[in-house]
Amino acid sequence: MILEKYSFGIGDRFCHQGKAQLSALMKANEQGLNITPVWNKSHREHTIIGTTPADTRQEALDAVKALKWDGPYFVDADHIGPGNVDQFIESSDFFTLDVADFIGRPADKSDVDAFVKKYGRYIGSLAVEGIERNLDVSEERIRAISGKFLLAVKQAGGIYRHITEAKGAGSFITEVSMDETDQPQTPVEMLFILAAIAEEGIPAQTIAPKFTGRFNKGVDYVGDVSAFAKEFEEDLAVVHFAVSEFGLPENLKLSIHSGSDKFSIYGPIAGALKKFDAGLHIKTAGTTWLEELIGLAMAGGDGLSIAKEVYAKALMRFGELCGPYATVIDIDTAELPTPEQVDDWDGQSFASALRHDQSCGQYNPNFRQLLHVAYKIAAEMGTRFTNALDRHEDIIAQNVAENIYERHVRPVFMEAR
Ligand SMILES: [Zn+2]
Repeated sequence: MILEKYSFGIGDRFCHQGKAQLSALMKANEQGLNITPVWNKSHREHTIIGTTPADTRQEALDAVKALKWDGPYFVDADHIGPGNVDQFIESSDFFTLDVADFIGRPADKSDVDAFVKKYGRYIGSLAVEGIERNLDVSEERIRAISGKFLLAVKQAGGIYRHITEAKGAGSFITEVSMDETDQPQTPVEMLFILAAIAEEGIPAQTIAPKFTGRFNKGVDYVGDVSAFAKEFEEDLAVVHFAVSEFGLPENLKLSIHSGSDKFSIYGPIAGALKKFDAGLHIKTAGTTWLEELIGLAMAGGDGLSIAKEVYAKALMRFGELCGPYATVIDIDTAELPTPEQVDDWDGQSFASALRHDQSCGQYNPNFRQLLHVAYKIAAEMGTRFTNALDRHEDIIAQNVAENIYERHVRPVFMEAR
């Protein structure tokens, strides 16, 4: 099973927008740009919403059937670990092995010694095609990197073999993710992490490093764009190098998590993909749910009431909702409107405050981030919320599709061609 050059991770909290999401990628397809849809959902999201991996599979099946999509598509068990992999095995054919928790836990000295011995051939000034300056590789550096990452990669190997025993080798896509950690990985670290992945026999087709800068949920990139651009290009070069050096899958590519809405780095990303003729997997941060709220608000009446109610309750439960996402949101509470202010808004005002249009004076990133983590409130509304999604399907679908196509597919993939 091979993941194509371009693929898009379409998270969907409530499993209601599969068709709208697919329609956006099919629009690109009509113009000769092939992007493979991958419906991703993590254990945490399933738990908070009360859905199962089988629901995501069903959503994908329904969308594919309704729109007569005959291309490839996948269902991604996002950020799984040993404790929850089993519930994903049947319904998923894409597994994102999360090793972040094990980064920094010391590996066995004998494993480190063996790794250092084997990869000692890279010690010195290492030339990698596509990187201007040579990489500086010393024995101490390889030792430090293997000490920090070997155990995590071994962990991924264990999960990979567990899935293989259940599903059979070659019947699923494997991603290794290290994005949910404090420190970005340098290109040199990435090189030896990929060596370790190859050592473990993991046929990774995508790798999700932590990049420099902040990838907050649902809002733009925060950080030094030129530093990111340099690092991203070096990572692409290292991936290309590692494929031939370590015998990793030819189609191995980078995966960007919380990659939606990072408008200020889409230009550099597209430019780098073009320069290296590289592929990309980009995962959205579940922002389709915000388009559902925008659609409900624009529908007015009961839809707008639900949107306002979600916000009012989210404000009251601020700490509880933001807690689990503390490291990936930055909300300035002084900039949050009061429930009374929001109550006076019409649907258009609500939509303008929420929609990620930085040229719009009413756009409020604080409002957007709070609502991003407030999907639990909508989940608690149960069928009251999902019935409203059904009632206002047209206007919601329009917003979902436009967000994916105009704000993501075009600036990233169209420009990368
Ligand atoms: Zn992630």
